[in-house]
Amino acid sequence: MADFQTTLQTTLQTTLQTASTVLISTRRVSRISTWLKVLCCVLSLGLFGGVARAQSSPTLALPAPSAPPNAEFLRAADEVLAEMSRILALPAKAPLKKTLRTSAEIRAFIVRQMQEDKEPEKRYADRKTLEKLGLIPRDFDLDGFLVDLLTEQIAGLYDPKSQEFYIADWIPAAEQRQVMSHELTHALQDQYFGLDTWAEAAKPNDDAELARHAVLEGSAMAAMFDWQYRHQGVGVREMPDLAPLLEPAIAGDKAKSPQFAKAPPFLRDVLMFPYISGAIFTQQVLKAGAGWADFKKVFANPPSSTQQILHPQLYLQGVVRPPVTLPDLAAALPEWKRLEENVGGEFLLHTLLQQYAGEARAKELAPSWAGDRYAIYEQSKTKQVLLVYRLHLANATDASRMFDGLSQTLQARYEKHSNLLLRPNYLQMDTPEGGVFLRCLGGDCMYVDGANRETYDVITRELGWPTAPGAAGKNTEEKRTRIVPAALLPGTQRLAAAR
Ligand SMILES: [Zn+2]
Repeated sequence: MADFQTTLQTTLQTTLQTASTVLISTRRVSRISTWLKVLCCVLSLGLFGGVARAQSSPTLALPAPSAPPNAEFLRAADEVLAEMSRILALPAKAPLKKTLRTSAEIRAFIVRQMQEDKEPEKRYADRKTLEKLGLIPRDFDLDGFLVDLLTEQIAGLYDPKSQEFYIADWIPAAEQRQVMSHELTHALQDQYFGLDTWAEAAKPNDDAELARHAVLEGSAMAAMFDWQYRHQGVGVREMPDLAPLLEPAIAGDKAKSPQFAKAPPFLRDVLMFPYISGAIFTQQVLKAGAGWADFKKVFANPPSSTQQILHPQLYLQGVVRPPVTLPDLAAALPEWKRLEENVGGEFLLHTLLQQYAGEARAKELAPSWAGDRYAIYEQSKTKQVLLVYRLHLANATDASRMFDGLSQTLQARYEKHSNLLLRPNYLQMDTPEGGVFLRCLGGDCMYVDGANRETYDVITRELGWPTAPGAAGKNTEEKRTRIVPAALLPGTQRLAAAR
């Protein structure tokens, strides 16, 4: 058995190395995540725009290929389609169009999709959120980076709108069938479940949408493994757990792709999550049921969060976290405009902790996520950004542990902080981007970033929480401005606060 496992591990890693282009390959790349979407239109470029988008923008369809596909390519596609139909227990309902595409054709398509992006406000808000969390550098050229990355990485795509799949012509012929096995899984599932409509039904919950993309990419990865080993009579259900096999492959992919290696860690994580965590999830679901014939239940009963992807047992047991709410701050903070409100999920929390407190801390703490909601605001005049992030934990003990981890995270994220005030379950400090506040009460943690103490007190009040330790004007503002007590100079505090 040990020999088998060693062999399997080696083969799997080889598969992933050769197929690593596949990883970031399909249309789904684009949607890799809502975050990526954020990240990019490219992403939302949906390398193949959603059905609605495609219908409203017929010009977005990929033009005819520069050269007709050769007979060998067409025969290979037909053979792989038949094999995938059998593996997935999804007989093809209709024939598919298929073409080879050049790098220039794919790049032009990506750029055009970005230009046609229909959700610029959402992208802007997501970008501001990621900058505020320190997950992408400020003013990072996300669009340019993603075009380069996707052009480099995309090996194949499936377009549900035209029911056509494309293979990049720079993929060696020997690897094309493997890419096909992945893409044709999307094609077959699309015929049965309507992938775009299904994935987008999770909107506006970003975390749930990312979870659905993990189902799509993860099942296509798992099906690709089944195809790879079809002659050995071994499928992913019989394989040892994929987690320890797949995770090291990410490092290998980094080495292989210069663009990928340059990506901020968050981008790498969000790009890989649907493929790696999605494949691990798929394997556990297949093992728990009767195989692919049972997998259609996942489309009828989709995972509700990235937590269910990261912990397949929670999905199988039907553990769903109740939604978390934030107060409406519009009346209390009229000078701030809310750009977006959404759910980050365990995936985002894990990434944040991992980047600033380390992998071990992230693995220890992130699973205690029991729901969250965040809002990102922008001050109309100064364009200053304010993040309000409420995290729910199972109980006060978990919340205290989370406080320690997030406190460590925030102090590392803002190397240049001052006026640090630490009390049990309370942190307050000044940063070049404004005041940062973290407080846990009962099973809830509130993280406010970009406010002065006065604004923070307003948020606390609107939340219905008691006033935080350290009175307004006693810590943050007074030390920074060295003003005389605000009470003696009406208006001064507000001026100081606006600096
Ligand atoms: Zn895919």
